[in-house]
Amino acid sequence: MADTKWVYDFSEGSKDQKDLLGGKGANLAEMTNLGLPVPPGFTITTDACRYYLEHGGTPPELDAQVSEHLAALEKAMGKTLGDPADPLLVSVRSGAAASMPGMMETVLNVGLNDESVQGLAAQSGSERFAWDSYRRLIQMFGKTVLDIDGDLFEHALDEVKAEQGTDLDLDLDAEHLEDVVGRFKAIVKDATGEDFPQDPREQMDMAINAVFDSWNSDRAIIYRRRERIPSDAGTAVNVCSMVFGNLGTDSGTGVAFTRDPGSGAQGVYGDYLQNAQGEDVVAGIRNTVPLGDLEDIDREAYDELMATMSRLESHYRDLCDIEFTIERNKLWMLQTRVGKRTAAAAFVIATQLVDEGLIDMDEAVRRVTGDQLAQLMFPRFISGGDATQLTQGMNASPGAAVGKAVFSSEEAVTWAQRGEDVVLVRRETNPDDLSGMIAAQGVLTSRGGKTSHAAVVARGMGKTCVCGAEELQVDTKAKKFTAPDGTVVSEGDVISIDGSTGRVWLGEVPVEPSAVVRYFEGEIDPEAEDTEAIVRSVHRILVHADQKRQLAVRTNADTPEDSARARRFGAQGIGLCRTEHMFLGDRRKLVEKLILADGDDERQAALDALEPLQKQDFLEIFEAMDGLPVTVRLLDPPLHEFLPDLTELSVRVALAEERGEPDEGSLRLLAAVRGMHESNPMLGLRGVRLGLVVPGLFAMQVRAIAEAACERKKAGGNPRPEIMIPLVGAVQELEAIREVSVRVLNEVFEQEGCEVDGLLGTMIEVPRAALTAGEIAGSAEFFSFGTNDLTQMTWGFSRDDVEAAFFHQYLDKGIFGISPFESLDREGVGRLVEIAVQQGREARPDLKLGVCGEHGGDPDSVHFFHEVGLDYVSCSPFRVPVARLEAGRAALGGERAGS
Ligand code: ADP
Ligand code: MG
Ligand code: MG
Repeated sequence: MADTKWVYDFSEGSKDQKDLLGGKGANLAEMTNLGLPVPPGFTITTDACRYYLEHGGTPPELDAQVSEHLAALEKAMGKTLGDPADPLLVSVRSGAAASMPGMMETVLNVGLNDESVQGLAAQSGSERFAWDSYRRLIQMFGKTVLDIDGDLFEHALDEVKAEQGTDLDLDLDAEHLEDVVGRFKAIVKDATGEDFPQDPREQMDMAINAVFDSWNSDRAIIYRRRERIPSDAGTAVNVCSMVFGNLGTDSGTGVAFTRDPGSGAQGVYGDYLQNAQGEDVVAGIRNTVPLGDLEDIDREAYDELMATMSRLESHYRDLCDIEFTIERNKLWMLQTRVGKRTAAAAFVIATQLVDEGLIDMDEAVRRVTGDQLAQLMFPRFISGGDATQLTQGMNASPGAAVGKAVFSSEEAVTWAQRGEDVVLVRRETNPDDLSGMIAAQGVLTSRGGKTSHAAVVARGMGKTCVCGAEELQVDTKAKKFTAPDGTVVSEGDVISIDGSTGRVWLGEVPVEPSAVVRYFEGEIDPEAEDTEAIVRSVHRILVHADQKRQLAVRTNADTPEDSARARRFGAQGIGLCRTEHMFLGDRRKLVEKLILADGDDERQAALDALEPLQKQDFLEIFEAMDGLPVTVRLLDPPLHEFLPDLTELSVRVALAEERGEPDEGSLRLLAAVRGMHESNPMLGLRGVRLGLVVPGLFAMQVRAIAEAACERKKAGGNPRPEIMIPLVGAVQELEAIREVSVRVLNEVFEQEGCEVDGLLGTMIEVPRAALTAGEIAGSAEFFSFGTNDLTQMTWGFSRDDVEAAFFHQYLDKGIFGISPFESLDREGVGRLVEIAVQQGREARPDLKLGVCGEHGGDPDSVHFFHEVGLDYVSCSPFRVPVARLEAGRAALGGERAGS
């Protein structure tokens, strides 16, 4: 440790040292080395922070190293920290590798005290400026380092303003500000029992330690747990010499983007505020001007800023955002980083940069994410119409929803049953609101963040949700809410909510289908010149991702329509065709007959009646997916799901008995329903267990598949059925079904005089199956991971129960950062997948491997499936493009998450 280097001058680092210097420090170093005008300074490393957290104090050498760098800084600036005659002032700024809420806010003007404030006044020629800087120091230092309630300072400042009869800070002159300083010092003394520290170095050291301490603030801890940021990564501290935007109208401060972060368009984007310091520009205390106006205010500084921005953009090869200050016509760069952007801008910018020769197509694919593509596929609100915006809450679950406001779950259900579109409005939701959430087009809450119950459940259901719209006063008893402008919205009034932006309107905002979806549907030519930029970009990027990816992408589809759409969206087959809906509707009666059958003959008759119906379903799907594999899962849910509800049926029978006309059929049905009742249906008689217990059921399904395939083949088609057995836990189960299936297939082929190539395989969704995959592979030609059930059974979670009941609390407490049903749990469920892949391939090298759980369309999970070497993922039709993109990104080594 003796020669550990804890402090780096800005000229000693680079943008690739984020882990050591933090994001802000690394980029300050990069700009310094590019020769850009960065106020000199130094960075204390994250190592020092880790040491501090571990040992409860700074490393012994830190003090000397800071002194050394401070001395060098003082020499370079020709000033001494806090010198009474001509003080060097610095800012102390936190900066971890990943930006994070809860970290200490920057303290500006460190080095000012009762004496040096005079020196600053003399040097700058402005008493007002000096006292303003001093009061800012005490305020920021008091709040962030000494932990004093910030409102105390705000109130004291407001008091002085009120006494002067103004509400503008610029109306206060030097004398007033000196008065403010006096009051601020009294607040410090009062709150801490000590005077505001006058020793400049003590101020600096206290601020540095406060940054280290802020690493363990409650907000930061929870955020890290959730985002899986290691809790010991630590933050760096940047000490940066001050430059002043508040020296007069020839000074100012601003923020800028190198392109429009909203659309990706090139141009001048940003805000500027004259005679202001630090956060003033974003704090909304005075009105900023558009950055373009700077050209008239200060031509030279403007030109230099433009040149600097284009330099940064070509250096970082990406959109950058920037903080700058102009001190007496001289430009200073205070921060830059690769900037956040909207989904549309991400795509457009990526291909723009390709066209400008800054990046190649591989990089363009890495630069965008599946989440961004998914956002572009939601229908969007368009301007026009006469709706008025009421407020903006949090964008909790994307989509555009329009409907009449209702204020309870019951109303939502009743209104929806009448065929009305409703938006459920609540202060916050709880498990009792579930049925209302299902019935509503969207959900709006006034409380709670992105891990609130409403947000978590809505995302799980794919339902539009705006949460935490705090400006709305929701009164569910009176069935109304009040917007900040006083507008009252009552039950039945139409509102519109945008889950992608958090906006809420009174009235109906017109919705238009996404251009990107219209392109996938084949309605827009992506290469035509007048096609929107976003469509052209998406097309180019997806074409490239398709070329690079190793995973095939299939879809989960049960109907010919879904199959056809998925095919247009790029699906290369069906990974999961569920057969249960084929037992619903009119066919329910046939299932009843099957269940109530008395003896083999009655049962066979019921099955014989079902078979032709199933065959017709398969025929249509094979046709829609001609030439591509179609994985058909034999019946999975428990049979009683097809029977009437127990209570309903009991009532019906009781009433009939009262009337003295009990009917034989209902009585038998009731007995059957009672007999089949299960406490844990999820773990009961379903999947392969049904196939083994209900004679003839799976044989009927296999026959229907085989006959449909033969018929397609005879008609010149190319059907490629893959028969999949669900819920297998032991190879013996599979062997038994396999034997029957092979016999039936051969019978049909012989009878029809035709043979169809196909596969017979199993789902891996019971942990035992994953653990005995080697044996199971002996009887399976393919595995398809059913990660929904596999997650349920690995965690012991019943999804329908836990998501609505307590998942938001688990997320809030940081037990996991994302629901394991949304994104595959790599460590647990993923481990089982790995074992099964490895054992399965060992036993049968040509074993085909895929996944058909919802995780097949989740970006992070797609990367996992790529890494473990599956052959394909399968997901809902709308997720197919997302999976294509992420499979390409995974192959190109793109980051898993990120936005
Ligand atoms: P954040 O991480 O919140 O952006 P910063 O450290 O960038 O915090 O600082 C907060 C504000 O203070 C920004 O507007 C920044 O430009 C300004 N600032 C920071 N250091 C200095 C400095 N040395 N001179 C002038 N302004 C500064
Ligand atoms: Mg900043
Ligand atoms: Mg399952």
